[in-house]
Amino acid sequence: MNNLPSLVLLKFERRDIILIAGLVFFMIGLTPFTGLAIAAVVVAMMYFGIKVYVDKRRQSILEDVGDGICMECGSKTIDKKCPNCGYSKG
Ligand SMILES: [Zn+2]
Repeated sequence: MNNLPSLVLLKFERRDIILIAGLVFFMIGLTPFTGLAIAAVVVAMMYFGIKVYVDKRRQSILEDVGDGICMECGSKTIDKKCPNCGYSKG
């Protein structure tokens, strides 16, 4: 459990800072309408929603690349062969 903070820091990317900066500005804009507490909750939910979405996107991209992408038409290959144009990666 000692290495947990460093793991969090490793997962904390430069993109996250930009995302947080954007969300802070969004929270400041939202506060006059909803109050600070609700604005903070909305922004926190957006932050985790975006993080989960990005993680899932990254995972699905990794899965796509893992199976291979057709060099001819860019569609996902099955068993290293393209279902569209029959291009074989192997
Ligand atoms: Zn193809």
